[in-house]
Amino acid sequence: MGETQQFDILIAGGTVIDPAGGRNGRFDVGISDGKIAAVEPDLSAAQTVERIDATELLVLPGMIDTHAHVYQHVTGKFGLNPDLVGVRSGVTTLIDQGGPSCMTIGGFRHYVSGPADSRVLCFISCYLVGGLEGHLYPDLYGPNGVNPEHTGRVAKQNLDLIKGIKAHAEIGGQSRWGLEVIKVGKTISRETDLPLYIHLGQLWPTADSAPIPDADELIRELVPIMEAGDILAHPFTRHPGGFVSSTGEIHPILLEAVHERGVTVDVGHGSHFSFDVARKVLAAGVEPFTLGADMHGYNVRVPETADAEERLNNPFAGVAPFNLTIAMSELLHLGVPLERVVAMVTANPAKMIRMEDTLGTLQPGREADVSVLKIESGRFKLSDNSGVEETAERLVRPILCLRGGRRFDADSPFVPPAIAA
Ligand SMILES: [Zn+2]
Repeated sequence: MGETQQFDILIAGGTVIDPAGGRNGRFDVGISDGKIAAVEPDLSAAQTVERIDATELLVLPGMIDTHAHVYQHVTGKFGLNPDLVGVRSGVTTLIDQGGPSCMTIGGFRHYVSGPADSRVLCFISCYLVGGLEGHLYPDLYGPNGVNPEHTGRVAKQNLDLIKGIKAHAEIGGQSRWGLEVIKVGKTISRETDLPLYIHLGQLWPTADSAPIPDADELIRELVPIMEAGDILAHPFTRHPGGFVSSTGEIHPILLEAVHERGVTVDVGHGSHFSFDVARKVLAAGVEPFTLGADMHGYNVRVPETADAEERLNNPFAGVAPFNLTIAMSELLHLGVPLERVVAMVTANPAKMIRMEDTLGTLQPGREADVSVLKIESGRFKLSDNSGVEETAERLVRPILCLRGGRRFDADSPFVPPAIAA
């Protein structure tokens, strides 16, 4: 006692929501040397170089976007600039889903993850080519385009960056190769002890020569392959082959996997998010564990390549504006309590990538990754790509973040403007 505390930055007067740290209330957060130094109800007696007034703002552990596409340039127009999706949108950690492969992880490390101000990790693609142009050419993604030994070896050599394995279970691939490639993905996942992340919902057109596969059969075959800690993505997709069966019910086998076998669910918002499907899936008792945004060059407007026609003709196109904080706003609007939505972008994704000892909470001593948000009250228009428009009373907006104690304001052009209803 007696000695005046000193901080580089004091985030003062905000509402701290830190599910893993057990805090939800008004706290000051002091930061020194890039680390969280103190979280206390009142640190106003401390000396500080920079004071951020967070009265009326939310202060969260640095947000983690579990589904990013930021292998810029290498994945064609699909990969976005990591810092525009990351720190300049209030998000401190990005997990690229399946951009880099065993052959291209070196470029990802040296040209994306290394230089970015955001923390950039990935789930390595189960396919040799990775996520080029967003998997535009299905023939690259068959059983001839995988090598479990090579991918497993490279994954083990890059565990600081690679936190899981990414593959797709959808009827376009199923019509060509069945679920062969998913089984290879599971082999790599077992071999490396990394979780398997499975995309659900049609991605590719079905093969002309084959009968249109049964999406329900795909789910019945897929789910037994999934183990505790594995992740099913896109539960709210409006495309066939998701959580809702062809007869309109939630597949019982998926409920069992989620409720009894420890398989988790990632929203992976994207352009296929549907309010109607989301209501149905939430009503069935499936709550997502994590909340990736799944933004990429064809579902957000990239200012420097405003080639509208090419964008809209792409199979992955979407026009409804979204990002991670819009996805948070939508879940709030759908009735998920704020603290649980916060857990989906902080504590839970840290667990998903088994980094809960490093990320996802504001405990003193941790690296100072902090997201500062504002919840606006009013009447805001939210929309999805099936044409549904909803009026939300709360809109989550990013204000700034600290990444390792360094401040970034949320000035990214990818933060959609608030639209009055
Ligand atoms: Zn994606």
